[in-house]
Amino acid sequence: MTMTLSGGVLGPRQQCNPWSTTVHDNPGVPGRRVSLGKGPMILRTPGSRLHDGSTGRIPGRYPQVVLTISFPAAAFATNCYVLATGPGEECLVVDPGIGVEPQLQGVLTEHRLRPTAVLLTHGHVDHLYSVTPVCGGDTAAYIHEDDRYRLDDPIALLDRGLVAMLEQQFGQQATWKPPERVVTVRDRDTLALAGLDLTVLHAPGHTEGSVMFTLPTVPDQLREQTGATATCVSGDVLFAGSIGRSDLPGGDPAAMERSLRDVVLPLPDDMLVLPGHGAVTMIAHERASNPYLQNL
Ligand SMILES: [Zn+2]
Ligand SMILES: [Zn+2]
Repeated sequence: MTMTLSGGVLGPRQQCNPWSTTVHDNPGVPGRRVSLGKGPMILRTPGSRLHDGSTGRIPGRYPQVVLTISFPAAAFATNCYVLATGPGEECLVVDPGIGVEPQLQGVLTEHRLRPTAVLLTHGHVDHLYSVTPVCGGDTAAYIHEDDRYRLDDPIALLDRGLVAMLEQQFGQQATWKPPERVVTVRDRDTLALAGLDLTVLHAPGHTEGSVMFTLPTVPDQLREQTGATATCVSGDVLFAGSIGRSDLPGGDPAAMERSLRDVVLPLPDDMLVLPGHGAVTMIAHERASNPYLQNL
């Protein structure tokens, strides 16, 4: 299980994000921004927590291992993340977007992972289109209470231009069926799922119920390169060099500014960011160079 990292590479998925305030990144900015590259990427992480369970390991004697797999959906290049303590374990699926099912199933089969929850950073269709088939009848979808209504019919909430883009990329008329089990979360909720500890940070502005999930662990191969000690799955709140749009229905520029100032900026410099679109970055790098984080 290896992965290749390349510094500052602007992948094709960065360039086709209709949800970003700016579609182009700052390719000239030097720094520690790193890219997961193309295709599924696997990051194994010795973390700070302890692993226990059916493998027979003894609590307190082995570090937690986090398996993080990232791949962009074919449509809108929305990043889907799979988080687990290791192969053969339960896992979390974050933001299963449009058309991810075959690739996701391949990842789950290859690593013998069992989804125990699906986490949604927000209720936009490019982040949750596959939530219902991925959840099946048993697995719950987690979403902030303020975006809960979007699960009723996320396609109806899109403007016509985005629906047209969606159907063009999807290749057929978009249809929708809500997941059977939904758990709503709130700011500062802590979740213990699949052996992982996550904290919910409500950061409205892109949508009413946009959240980021933080974890006290870092994928190992990014730890050395970045010096990160924790991870933030940032959804469409924060991207490398940009932020999510706040001019779509449910968006709120003033709320976005508050979220950036009061939720994003207080995050520690050494926190790795896994965004909803585009390349991985670090809070320190964004604090220093992201134009939307200046003068708040
Ligand atoms: Zn979005
Ligand atoms: Zn998005």
